[in-house]
Amino acid sequence: MKRYSAFAIAREAFRYHTGWERAWRSPEPKSRYDVVIVGAGGHGLATAYYLGKNFGITNVAVLEKGWLGGGNTGRNTTIIRSNYLQDPSAAIYEKARGLYETLSQDLNMNVMFSPRGVLMLAQTEHEVRGYKRTAQANAYQGVDTEFVSPERVQELCPILDIGGPRYPVLGALWQPRGGTARHDAVAWGYARACSDMGMDIIQKCEVTGITQSGGKVTGVQTTRGDIACGKLGIVVAGHSGQLAEMAGFRLPIESVALQAMVSEPIKPCMDVVVMANSVHGYMSQSDKGEMVIGGGTDIYNNYTQRGSFNHIEETVRSLIEIFPIVSRLKMLRQWGGIVDMTGDRSPIISPTPLGGCFINCGWGTGGFKAIPGSGWAMADMIARDAPGPLAAAFSLDRFAEGRFIDESVAAGVAH
Ligand SMILES: Cc1cc2nc3c(=O)[nH]c(=O)nc-3n(C[C@H](O)[C@H](O)[C@H](O)COP(=O)(O)OP(=O)(O)OC[C@H]3O[C@@H](n4cnc5c(N)ncnc54)[C@H](O)[C@@H]3O)c2cc1C
Repeated sequence: MKRYSAFAIAREAFRYHTGWERAWRSPEPKSRYDVVIVGAGGHGLATAYYLGKNFGITNVAVLEKGWLGGGNTGRNTTIIRSNYLQDPSAAIYEKARGLYETLSQDLNMNVMFSPRGVLMLAQTEHEVRGYKRTAQANAYQGVDTEFVSPERVQELCPILDIGGPRYPVLGALWQPRGGTARHDAVAWGYARACSDMGMDIIQKCEVTGITQSGGKVTGVQTTRGDIACGKLGIVVAGHSGQLAEMAGFRLPIESVALQAMVSEPIKPCMDVVVMANSVHGYMSQSDKGEMVIGGGTDIYNNYTQRGSFNHIEETVRSLIEIFPIVSRLKMLRQWGGIVDMTGDRSPIISPTPLGGCFINCGWGTGGFKAIPGSGWAMADMIARDAPGPLAAAFSLDRFAEGRFIDESVAAGVAH
């Protein structure tokens, strides 16, 4: 693979850009792989990447029923933060945030990580207490956050109306090294690096069945034929329930639609990410100038990647309360994705009742930020046949044992 660099851009400029090669190969599936990963979203691709990078396992296929990054990875609002309450969550999200800091160099692809800072507004006394508690926990966990005053919030984001009549801003949880990244570049970067290691990324290849013998996985049936494998990783977000059924077990997951929208591009007016969980809205400004806006999830289960109309109205209405400028903006696009919600709002990274089959899901409304850390932990588990320190707390057993990792304050709705 040719390296991307300023020199490469200059060289190509002199030869009419004829020397660029495809970012990843599109091979025919082989009959067998050591590891098959189902789902070429960020988490699946990152798993494959760290299998190769950290463990030298490269006889790997990533199977994708659509196009890579076409699931939630290419549909999210790209907020990255690690200010979670519980120790296992802070550990994996902070690992991911740390990896994001150098991901562009690591993958040799500019993922446009922008640690511009994330403000989570406290607009009720309950939120003030909750976020102060999180800031205290983060101090012990080594996550750099701070509870800031309304005046500091106004300084950081002048377009906010902090004195709103219904929910005035009482302070905020501030993570200065949180931010955003370009979502599809993250998927493309991992895919390119995996392909360069000799892994096969096979798009338009839907897994329709999972074969097993003696309680162990032996392969998958796909729309492009049967593929045998030594180990299987299921990393399909909103479709996890369907894949689990193929493997013969059930998951405590509900799939619901979450949607987002962007406005017309405007001049730079906001250089932080703001989340307002009381009114159910959050906003950041993209490098192109569009305001990127998201709200809450639908209240019913669903597999259509759209979301219901009332959420568009409710989200905009909420945002107008705290960002009056929104009322003057035209919205350009709206879309939805199917997110996989667990009861405790924490992910599942776990071995499964089927031998050799591992699952990574349940990231719900907030898994983009976790991609590098999740891939790291999942690769470690697949390579060693057991969850390592980052993954151990997130096993499926916790639902049977009542050992929940309650992140409903940090992750219930927002991202
Ligand atoms: C509107 C919206 C906003 C969000 N905002 C944020 C945010 O700001 N910050 C944040 O951290 N997170 C956010 N999220 C959540 C985040 O996008 C997800 O948690 C994350 O992208 C999940 O990645 P993934 O790789 O697990 O899943 P996906 O990217 O969905 O990838 C799974 C892949 O599996 C494929 N697949 C499914 N079934 C099969 C099959 N049978 N065979 C083969 N392939 C299959 C799918 O086609 C898909 O490409 C948001 C989500 C949405 C929808």
